[in-house]
Amino acid sequence: MRCWWGRDKKRESIMSNISYSHQHIDQADIAAVTRALRSDWLTQGPMVKEFEEALCRYTSARYAVAVSSGTAALHIACLAAGFEKGQEVVVPANTFAASANAVVYAGAKPVFTDIDQSTGNMDLKVIGKSFGPKTRGIIAVDFAGIPCDWQQLSSMASKRKLVVIDDASHALGASYKAEGHWHKVGCSQHTDMTTLSFHPLKSITTGEGGAVLTNRQDLYEKLLLLRNHGIDKDSKGLVKLMVSLGFNYRIADIQCALGCNQIKKLDRLIKERLEINNFYRKSFAGNRYFDMLSWDKTVNSSHHLFPILLKNAVHRDSLIEQLRARGLGVQVHYMPVYWHPFYRQRGYKRCYAPVSEEFFRREISIPIYAGLSKKDQRFVVKVIMNACNSIIGKGVL
Ligand SMILES: *Cc1c(COP(=O)(O)O)cnc(C)c1O
Repeated sequence: MRCWWGRDKKRESIMSNISYSHQHIDQADIAAVTRALRSDWLTQGPMVKEFEEALCRYTSARYAVAVSSGTAALHIACLAAGFEKGQEVVVPANTFAASANAVVYAGAKPVFTDIDQSTGNMDLKVIGKSFGPKTRGIIAVDFAGIPCDWQQLSSMASKRKLVVIDDASHALGASYKAEGHWHKVGCSQHTDMTTLSFHPLKSITTGEGGAVLTNRQDLYEKLLLLRNHGIDKDSKGLVKLMVSLGFNYRIADIQCALGCNQIKKLDRLIKERLEINNFYRKSFAGNRYFDMLSWDKTVNSSHHLFPILLKNAVHRDSLIEQLRARGLGVQVHYMPVYWHPFYRQRGYKRCYAPVSEEFFRREISIPIYAGLSKKDQRFVVKVIMNACNSIIGKGVL
């Protein structure tokens, strides 16, 4: 114990380590979890339902099924969608592996589609190339918190009768305009299902956790079964029957107590991220080293990530080393999923999605999260500009 603590303390004194993202936990969160711990239920008590209702209220979705992780949410969404062997599901190359893995869990084949480099989201101008006779669905990702063009995506999908899942792990709290109205990501008006993650680095956290949102009762009923071993009550409600093969993907009351408190401050957390975004954009405007993402006025991002895209990819790795050495815990989002050995071994080749590959070579995600102080924001800007000046260019901004 002492040894670990001592090491951490020492590291802190050497440099302030600012991660690219961090959870937001306050006294009210701690009190909420403590209350749950003192209650009669640690799991499957009233907080799960309460959290699901809060998610529905926030997003306007009709149904929510809270589960043990974002990956579990994707898994049961793919099973509820009916994806199976012999079918293909279109997934963006620029995402976390779990978006594609869920398709593999269901026995179907992910087909990776390319992105638009200004947002990092699926490029709907080229997505047609990924459709074939076996295509059954689309899993789209609201990269960095920027909503996809859901109006266009849903109309493309309905023409082909495809099941649409939004992996909104980055985007709880984001919104988009469609048919002249603003919609919260997760409202499920343009998707069959939306999945969320409550990992500590996402918009809100339950430690580990996730949820599937939907407006379709048939899917809702399937999702409930899949979460809990496929077990249902018989018609009299006396005996439990296992009617299909499900899992234990339940989330605990303790976790949902945290979730209920977190969702209360969601808008405030997003607003803090927005202010950091605005500060970075002003500070970095017109710089010669990198570009930033851009999107139009029909979406509000949740600002999950703040990616910078180097004009010249050659410098990325040395820049990352330099930034980390100076205390910025920067990350890269994402290596194209099919570059992972698991997918390469299954026949996926490089040059599949050239824009995603180039995006990955140029990308660095810099710190953005609620609670990042103004002083730290200024430090981030200074360290990045100094590192760019010394590694890439002479002269100043
Ligand atoms: C975080 C994340 C997931 C997985 O969520 P977990 O809760 O960690 O299982 C899936 N997809 C994307 C895009 C994510 O960012």
